[in-house]
Amino acid sequence: TENTVILDGVGVKRALTRIAHEVLERNKGVKDLVLVGIRTGGVYLAHELSLRLEEIEGEKVPVGAVDITLYRDDIKGHSEHLPVGKTEIPFSIEGKKVVLVDDVLFTGRTIRAAMDAIMDHGRPSCIQLAVLVDRGHRDLPIRADFVGRNVPTSLKENITVAFDAANKPTEVVLEK
Ligand code: 5GP
Ligand code: MG
Repeated sequence: TENTVILDGVGVKRALTRIAHEVLERNKGVKDLVLVGIRTGGVYLAHELSLRLEEIEGEKVPVGAVDITLYRDDIKGHSEHLPVGKTEIPFSIEGKKVVLVDDVLFTGRTIRAAMDAIMDHGRPSCIQLAVLVDRGHRDLPIRADFVGRNVPTSLKENITVAFDAANKPTEVVLEK
């Protein structure tokens, strides 16, 4: 197999810094802003964004987590009766602007399920989506507001988003 480095360590950092600035520009600062990462990569990236937002604005932005494994509509049989993955949002999202964060956007089913999980938790004023990689192949009318890299892929290819022991992103690789 042949691998292509899409983003190296510095490239990932730059992409996250840019996304942090775009989030701030769109939302005119961090007021009422919260981040919710999708386990596991999305949570690591949400923490990276939160660090940058704090660096730039001098204010902490809370980070929550949702686990979508059991929630996806192509995995579950009957939605109402299956257990939902663990959601850890230890703050109110009532009236908040929620930025959902994930590593790779593919069919959009995970995001649809994450929005369900968030809505079960409260009523945000809006939900926006930030992803490190959009690899295409959407099954649903879902798009990201903030994208690190658009990477056209075939269905056979796979994107690896690598993290180090401190859960810091180290590179993005396209595996053919
Ligand atoms: P979707 O639900 O949009 O089909 O897939 C998105 C979810 O599956 C994300 O949470 C992402 O972590 C994972 N995923 C889908 N495709 C890839 C991929 O090529 N590489 C990685 N690392 N994760 C993927
Ligand atoms: Mg994932």
